[in-house]
Amino acid sequence: MPSDEGLYGEYGGKIGHPDLAKAMQEIEVGFREIIKEPDFIDEMQRLRETYVGRPSPIYHAQRLSEHCGGAQIYFKREDLNHTGAHKINHCLGEVLLAKKLGKTKVIAETGAGQHGVALATAAALMGIECEIHMGVVDIKKEHPNVSRMKILGAKIVPVSEGAGTLKEAVDSAFNTYLGELDSSMFAIGSALGPAPYPEMVSYFQSVVGHEARAQFLTTTGRLPNKVVACVGGGSNAIGMFSGFLEDEDVALVGVEPAGEGLDTPNHAATMSLGVKGEIHGFKCYVLLDEQGEPAPVHSIASGLDYPGVGPQHSLLKDLQRASYESATDKECLEAFMALSRMEGIIPALESAHAIAYAMKVAKEMSPDQSILVNLSGRGDKDIDFVLDKVDL
Ligand SMILES: *Cc1c(COP(=O)(O)O)cnc(C)c1O
Repeated sequence: MPSDEGLYGEYGGKIGHPDLAKAMQEIEVGFREIIKEPDFIDEMQRLRETYVGRPSPIYHAQRLSEHCGGAQIYFKREDLNHTGAHKINHCLGEVLLAKKLGKTKVIAETGAGQHGVALATAAALMGIECEIHMGVVDIKKEHPNVSRMKILGAKIVPVSEGAGTLKEAVDSAFNTYLGELDSSMFAIGSALGPAPYPEMVSYFQSVVGHEARAQFLTTTGRLPNKVVACVGGGSNAIGMFSGFLEDEDVALVGVEPAGEGLDTPNHAATMSLGVKGEIHGFKCYVLLDEQGEPAPVHSIASGLDYPGVGPQHSLLKDLQRASYESATDKECLEAFMALSRMEGIIPALESAHAIAYAMKVAKEMSPDQSILVNLSGRGDKDIDFVLDKVDL
């Protein structure tokens, strides 16, 4: 839980702008109330079961484990959720909260379009408007997701300022939100940003870790030795980790994109190479350029392409309760193909980072040990990109 100032240790924090601070306060109070209400709990439970398809299974990847020749590798199958990733878990919560607060619209930014699609889905389901701000460069690059959002009824606002990507889309979405604080709610796409978003998104994602712990115990009679998840902003990882935080014998490992290598400028390994700083209104580890501004970052997985990281992860690193490793673009593509060819599961490029690390570390472990990987999403969105990069 964060402090009254919205801090996890020294990370996170509340927004200074007075009008926004008032809006954030309304969301925080509403969130803390709603999660205690029996009607909300029942509705969330019903939607998780009958709409998302929860609980998602735990799967023992026998062929992949044998191939690596060490620890047993298991997957928490968030890729099987409706819309194909973990993001629907917090979008349903955010949209239910918006309705409860009497809002008629949710506003968000999206980079690759994954958050936009999950939010547009939840908004369609609840009959509420959805406005998605997206850089013009991303709109071109992520065309299938743009089409999905449009079909789902979302309004897309193209942002042509600056580089025309995620950062400008965040600024544009926040500007619109400032003019509509009474009728709209901002819906952030990861466990980051000012309070109460890290707490709220983690809470809605914690279902992943709690399910996984119980399922793993039932299936194997014990807990995994390692729990592994990819880290962009940190929502799928914190959701998974939250089920195991008290289990001191379970090692928690977040995997960041090393891109073209940690010794090149083209990566997004915030935890490995970042410094304590500030981005988009909260404190965390962050990659800065020479001017002290958030640096341009690179990963082949657009969902991991962010120079900051959630405040809870920043604290878990300092406390050494979790460790943060990285996987390169190349290792990620190899893991993508390995899972596709050995298990018939095409993973998201984001998730493939966690798989790449698991395959590497499994070799150093014994066959009676186990690794549980959060398979955060499916890779249908990435197939054309991968076909371009891999010789088949
Ligand atoms: C968005 C996304 C991520 C990265 O976001 P986190 O908040 O770090 O979880 C990872 N995997 C998939 C499939 C995504 O869509």
